[in-house]
Amino acid sequence: MAGPMAGKCGVVVGVANKRSLAWAAAKSLAAQGARVALTYQGERLREGVEKLAGELGPKTLTFPCDVIHLRQMDRLAESLKREFGGLDFLVHSIAFAPTEDLKGRFRQISRKGFHRAMDVSVYSLVALAHRLSPLMAGREASVVTLTYVGATRVIPNYNLMGVAKAALESSVRYLAYDLGEEGTRVNAISAGPVRTLSASAVGDFVKILDHVEQTAPLRRNIEAGDVGNVVAFLCSPASRNITGDVLFVDSGSHAMGV
Ligand code: NAP
Repeated sequence: MAGPMAGKCGVVVGVANKRSLAWAAAKSLAAQGARVALTYQGERLREGVEKLAGELGPKTLTFPCDVIHLRQMDRLAESLKREFGGLDFLVHSIAFAPTEDLKGRFRQISRKGFHRAMDVSVYSLVALAHRLSPLMAGREASVVTLTYVGATRVIPNYNLMGVAKAALESSVRYLAYDLGEEGTRVNAISAGPVRTLSASAVGDFVKILDHVEQTAPLRRNIEAGDVGNVVAFLCSPASRNITGDVLFVDSGSHAMGV
Protein backbone atom coordinates (compact mmCIF):
# COMPACT_ATOMS: atom_id res chain seq x y z
CA MET A 1 0.00 0.00 0.00
CA ALA A 2 1.31 3.50 -0.81
CA GLY A 3 1.67 6.17 1.89
CA PRO A 4 4.28 7.69 4.19
CA MET A 5 4.52 4.41 6.18
CA ALA A 6 4.80 2.10 3.14
CA GLY A 7 7.38 -0.63 3.71
CA LYS A 8 7.44 -0.04 7.49
CA CYS A 9 6.32 -2.52 10.11
CA GLY A 10 5.70 -2.38 13.81
CA VAL A 11 3.62 -3.42 16.78
CA VAL A 12 0.76 -1.74 18.61
CA VAL A 13 0.32 -2.85 22.22
CA GLY A 14 -2.97 -2.09 24.03
CA VAL A 15 -5.96 -2.86 21.83
CA ALA A 16 -8.85 -3.93 24.07
CA ASN A 17 -11.72 -3.08 21.71
CA LYS A 18 -12.73 -0.74 18.89
CA ARG A 19 -12.82 2.24 21.25
CA SER A 20 -9.16 1.80 22.29
CA LEU A 21 -6.75 4.57 21.35
CA ALA A 22 -4.42 1.74 20.31
CA TRP A 23 -6.98 0.64 17.73
CA ALA A 24 -7.20 4.17 16.32
CA ALA A 25 -3.39 4.19 16.09
CA ALA A 26 -3.31 0.82 14.34
CA LYS A 27 -5.90 1.98 11.79
CA SER A 28 -4.02 5.22 11.01
CA LEU A 29 -0.69 3.41 10.65
CA ALA A 30 -2.22 0.77 8.37
CA ALA A 31 -4.04 3.42 6.31
CA GLN A 32 -0.67 5.09 5.74
CA GLY A 33 0.81 1.88 4.42
CA ALA A 34 2.42 0.26 7.49
CA ARG A 35 2.28 -3.42 8.34
CA VAL A 36 0.92 -3.54 11.89
CA ALA A 37 0.97 -6.39 14.42
CA LEU A 38 -1.34 -6.26 17.44
CA THR A 39 -1.09 -7.76 20.91
CA TYR A 40 -3.79 -8.85 23.34
CA GLN A 41 -3.47 -9.04 27.10
CA GLY A 42 -4.91 -12.53 27.54
CA GLU A 43 -7.22 -15.21 26.18
CA ARG A 44 -10.22 -13.10 27.27
CA LEU A 45 -9.37 -10.50 24.63
CA ARG A 46 -7.89 -12.79 21.97
CA GLU A 47 -10.97 -13.31 19.80
CA GLY A 48 -11.95 -9.64 19.78
CA VAL A 49 -8.44 -8.47 18.89
CA GLU A 50 -8.10 -11.12 16.17
CA LYS A 51 -11.37 -9.91 14.68
CA LEU A 52 -10.17 -6.31 14.65
CA ALA A 53 -6.82 -7.42 13.22
CA GLY A 54 -8.71 -8.94 10.29
CA GLU A 55 -10.03 -5.46 9.45
CA LEU A 56 -6.44 -4.30 8.88
CA GLY A 57 -5.79 -7.11 6.43
CA PRO A 58 -6.05 -10.91 6.32
CA LYS A 59 -2.39 -11.43 7.21
CA THR A 60 -2.32 -9.16 10.27
CA LEU A 61 -0.40 -10.85 13.08
CA THR A 62 -1.55 -10.95 16.70
CA PHE A 63 0.48 -12.03 19.72
CA PRO A 64 -0.28 -12.46 23.43
CA CYS A 65 1.39 -9.93 25.71
CA ASP A 66 0.46 -9.39 29.33
CA VAL A 67 3.17 -6.99 30.47
CA ILE A 68 3.01 -8.31 34.04
CA HIS A 69 4.89 -11.36 32.72
CA LEU A 70 8.42 -10.58 31.52
CA ARG A 71 8.52 -13.89 29.68
CA GLN A 72 5.60 -12.82 27.48
CA MET A 73 7.50 -9.67 26.49
CA ASP A 74 10.55 -11.83 25.70
CA ARG A 75 8.38 -14.07 23.54
CA LEU A 76 6.82 -11.07 21.78
CA ALA A 77 10.31 -9.84 20.86
CA GLU A 78 11.25 -13.30 19.56
CA SER A 79 8.04 -13.56 17.49
CA LEU A 80 8.47 -10.09 15.99
CA LYS A 81 12.08 -10.88 15.10
CA ARG A 82 11.00 -14.09 13.41
CA GLU A 83 8.09 -12.51 11.49
CA PHE A 84 9.40 -9.02 10.63
CA GLY A 85 13.19 -9.27 10.99
CA GLY A 86 13.30 -5.64 12.17
CA LEU A 87 10.85 -3.13 13.59
CA ASP A 88 10.11 0.50 12.66
CA PHE A 89 7.70 1.40 15.46
CA LEU A 90 6.37 0.40 18.86
CA VAL A 91 3.12 1.96 20.04
CA HIS A 92 2.59 1.52 23.79
CA SER A 93 -1.00 2.29 24.77
CA ILE A 94 -1.59 0.56 28.08
CA ALA A 95 -2.29 1.61 31.61
CA PHE A 96 -3.81 0.14 34.72
CA ALA A 97 -4.72 1.27 38.23
CA PRO A 98 -7.27 -0.26 40.58
CA THR A 99 -10.63 1.56 40.31
CA GLU A 100 -10.54 2.44 44.02
CA ASP A 101 -7.30 4.38 43.42
CA LEU A 102 -8.97 6.49 40.72
CA LYS A 103 -11.44 8.30 42.95
CA GLY A 104 -11.68 9.99 46.33
CA ARG A 105 -8.74 11.06 48.47
CA PHE A 106 -5.33 10.85 46.83
CA ARG A 107 -3.64 10.16 50.17
CA GLN A 108 -5.57 6.90 50.45
CA ILE A 109 -4.05 5.25 47.37
CA SER A 110 -2.95 1.72 48.13
CA ARG A 111 0.63 0.46 48.14
CA LYS A 112 -0.38 -2.59 46.13
CA GLY A 113 -2.18 -0.41 43.59
CA PHE A 114 0.82 1.91 43.39
CA HIS A 115 3.18 -0.94 42.55
CA ARG A 116 0.80 -2.46 40.02
CA ALA A 117 0.11 0.89 38.29
CA MET A 118 3.82 1.64 37.99
CA ASP A 119 4.55 -1.85 36.70
CA VAL A 120 1.82 -2.02 34.04
CA SER A 121 1.70 1.64 33.04
CA VAL A 122 5.37 2.68 33.25
CA TYR A 123 7.86 -0.16 33.58
CA SER A 124 6.20 -1.93 30.64
CA LEU A 125 7.31 0.90 28.31
CA VAL A 126 10.92 0.60 29.44
CA ALA A 127 10.88 -3.21 29.36
CA LEU A 128 9.33 -3.37 25.89
CA ALA A 129 11.66 -0.68 24.51
CA HIS A 130 14.61 -2.62 25.92
CA ARG A 131 13.53 -5.93 24.41
CA LEU A 132 12.59 -4.46 21.02
CA SER A 133 15.52 -2.02 20.74
CA PRO A 134 17.79 -4.52 18.90
CA LEU A 135 15.08 -4.88 16.24
CA MET A 136 14.69 -1.11 15.91
CA ALA A 137 18.37 -0.07 15.96
CA GLY A 138 19.60 1.73 12.84
CA ARG A 139 16.13 1.96 11.23
CA GLU A 140 15.14 5.49 12.38
CA ALA A 141 12.48 3.73 14.39
CA SER A 142 9.93 5.37 16.67
CA VAL A 143 8.42 4.55 20.06
CA VAL A 144 5.18 6.29 21.02
CA THR A 145 3.27 6.09 24.30
CA LEU A 146 0.06 7.66 25.59
CA THR A 147 -0.11 10.04 28.53
CA TYR A 148 -2.51 12.57 30.05
CA VAL A 149 -2.25 16.11 31.43
CA GLY A 150 -2.89 14.63 34.89
CA ALA A 151 0.87 13.92 34.91
CA THR A 152 1.70 17.58 35.53
CA ARG A 153 -1.61 19.13 36.73
CA VAL A 154 -4.07 17.99 39.36
CA ILE A 155 -7.13 16.38 37.82
CA PRO A 156 -9.48 15.39 40.68
CA ASN A 157 -9.87 11.58 40.86
CA TYR A 158 -7.04 10.84 38.40
CA ASN A 159 -4.93 10.36 41.54
CA LEU A 160 -2.63 7.34 41.23
CA MET A 161 -2.62 7.41 37.44
CA GLY A 162 -1.35 11.02 37.51
CA VAL A 163 1.74 9.88 39.40
CA ALA A 164 2.20 6.97 36.99
CA LYS A 165 1.90 9.28 33.97
CA ALA A 166 4.52 11.64 35.46
CA ALA A 167 6.90 8.67 35.71
CA LEU A 168 5.95 7.60 32.19
CA GLU A 169 6.77 11.04 30.76
CA SER A 170 10.10 11.05 32.56
CA SER A 171 10.81 7.57 31.19
CA VAL A 172 10.13 8.93 27.69
CA ARG A 173 12.94 11.46 28.12
CA TYR A 174 15.42 8.96 29.54
CA LEU A 175 14.58 6.42 26.84
CA ALA A 176 14.89 9.09 24.14
CA TYR A 177 18.45 9.74 25.31
CA ASP A 178 19.29 6.07 25.68
CA LEU A 179 17.86 4.90 22.34
CA GLY A 180 18.80 8.06 20.44
CA GLU A 181 22.29 6.68 19.89
CA GLU A 182 20.71 3.94 17.77
CA GLY A 183 18.56 6.45 15.86
CA THR A 184 15.36 5.44 17.66
CA ARG A 185 13.02 8.24 18.76
CA VAL A 186 10.74 8.14 21.81
CA ASN A 187 7.75 10.44 22.35
CA ALA A 188 4.45 10.63 24.19
CA ILE A 189 1.09 11.95 23.10
CA SER A 190 -0.91 13.64 25.83
CA ALA A 191 -4.45 12.96 24.73
CA GLY A 192 -7.57 14.79 25.84
CA PRO A 193 -10.29 12.64 27.43
CA VAL A 194 -11.88 10.01 25.17
CA ARG A 195 -14.57 7.51 26.25
CA THR A 196 -12.76 4.15 26.42
CA LEU A 197 -12.80 1.15 28.74
CA SER A 198 -9.93 2.50 30.89
CA ALA A 199 -11.30 6.03 30.97
CA SER A 200 -14.59 4.80 32.41
CA ALA A 201 -12.68 3.74 35.54
CA VAL A 202 -11.77 7.36 36.36
CA GLY A 203 -14.23 8.92 38.80
CA ASP A 204 -16.50 11.64 37.34
CA PHE A 205 -15.04 11.14 33.85
CA VAL A 206 -18.09 12.76 32.24
CA LYS A 207 -17.34 15.98 34.15
CA ILE A 208 -13.86 16.02 32.59
CA LEU A 209 -15.38 15.68 29.10
CA ASP A 210 -17.83 18.52 29.82
CA HIS A 211 -15.04 20.73 31.15
CA VAL A 212 -12.97 20.33 27.97
CA GLU A 213 -15.98 21.09 25.79
CA GLN A 214 -16.70 24.27 27.70
CA THR A 215 -13.19 25.60 28.30
CA ALA A 216 -10.70 24.30 25.71
CA PRO A 217 -9.59 26.81 23.08
CA LEU A 218 -11.36 24.71 20.41
CA ARG A 219 -14.47 24.14 22.64
CA ARG A 220 -14.70 20.49 21.67
CA ASN A 221 -13.53 17.07 22.73
CA ILE A 222 -11.10 15.09 20.65
CA GLU A 223 -11.80 11.78 18.92
CA ALA A 224 -9.69 8.63 19.04
CA GLY A 225 -8.86 9.12 15.35
CA ASP A 226 -7.14 12.44 16.18
CA VAL A 227 -4.74 10.52 18.41
CA GLY A 228 -4.28 7.79 15.79
CA ASN A 229 -3.24 10.34 13.19
CA VAL A 230 -0.63 11.91 15.47
CA VAL A 231 0.72 8.46 16.38
CA ALA A 232 1.19 7.83 12.65
CA PHE A 233 2.92 11.20 12.27
CA LEU A 234 5.28 10.42 15.16
CA CYS A 235 6.11 7.07 13.58
CA SER A 236 6.71 8.60 10.16
CA PRO A 237 9.84 10.22 8.70
CA ALA A 238 8.00 13.59 8.84
CA SER A 239 8.83 13.72 12.57
CA ARG A 240 12.43 12.47 12.21
CA ASN A 241 13.91 15.11 14.52
CA ILE A 242 11.26 15.04 17.24
CA THR A 243 12.20 12.98 20.28
CA GLY A 244 11.91 13.08 24.07
CA ASP A 245 8.75 15.15 23.69
CA VAL A 246 5.14 15.19 24.83
CA LEU A 247 2.73 16.35 22.13
CA PHE A 248 -0.73 17.45 23.21
CA VAL A 249 -3.77 16.30 21.25
CA ASP A 250 -6.39 17.90 23.49
CA SER A 251 -8.12 20.76 21.63
CA GLY A 252 -5.62 23.07 23.35
CA SER A 253 -6.89 22.35 26.91
CA HIS A 254 -3.40 22.22 28.41
CA ALA A 255 -2.80 25.85 27.46
CA MET A 256 -5.54 27.09 29.79
CA GLY A 257 -4.96 28.37 33.34
CA VAL A 258 -8.60 27.97 34.38
P1 NAP B 1 -8.28 0.93 26.73
O1 NAP B 1 -8.92 0.72 25.44
O2 NAP B 1 -8.93 0.34 27.95
O3 NAP B 1 -6.76 0.49 26.62
C1 NAP B 1 -5.95 0.21 27.75
C2 NAP B 1 -5.22 -1.05 27.42
O4 NAP B 1 -4.26 -1.38 28.45
C3 NAP B 1 -6.17 -2.23 27.31
O5 NAP B 1 -5.93 -2.90 26.10
C4 NAP B 1 -5.77 -3.05 28.52
O6 NAP B 1 -6.08 -4.42 28.39
C5 NAP B 1 -4.29 -2.79 28.52
N1 NAP B 1 -3.66 -3.36 29.69
C6 NAP B 1 -3.96 -3.20 31.00
N2 NAP B 1 -3.19 -4.03 31.75
C7 NAP B 1 -2.38 -4.71 30.88
C8 NAP B 1 -1.38 -5.70 31.03
N3 NAP B 1 -1.03 -6.18 32.22
N4 NAP B 1 -0.75 -6.17 29.91
C9 NAP B 1 -1.08 -5.73 28.69
N5 NAP B 1 -2.05 -4.80 28.49
C10 NAP B 1 -2.68 -4.29 29.57
O7 NAP B 1 -8.17 2.51 27.08
P2 NAP B 1 -7.43 3.70 26.32
O8 NAP B 1 -8.11 4.93 26.82
O9 NAP B 1 -7.35 3.45 24.87
O10 NAP B 1 -5.98 3.68 26.99
C11 NAP B 1 -4.78 3.62 26.22
C12 NAP B 1 -3.74 4.56 26.78
O11 NAP B 1 -4.18 5.91 26.56
C13 NAP B 1 -3.51 4.43 28.28
O12 NAP B 1 -2.15 4.60 28.56
C14 NAP B 1 -4.30 5.61 28.83
O13 NAP B 1 -3.84 6.02 30.10
C15 NAP B 1 -4.02 6.62 27.76
N6 NAP B 1 -4.90 7.79 27.73
C16 NAP B 1 -6.24 7.64 27.62
C17 NAP B 1 -7.05 8.78 27.62
C18 NAP B 1 -8.55 8.63 27.54
O14 NAP B 1 -9.25 9.58 27.92
N7 NAP B 1 -9.09 7.54 27.06
C19 NAP B 1 -6.49 10.06 27.70
C20 NAP B 1 -5.10 10.18 27.79
C21 NAP B 1 -4.31 9.05 27.80
P3 NAP B 1 -7.33 -4.96 29.29
O15 NAP B 1 -8.54 -4.27 28.79
O16 NAP B 1 -7.31 -6.42 29.08
O17 NAP B 1 -7.03 -4.61 30.72
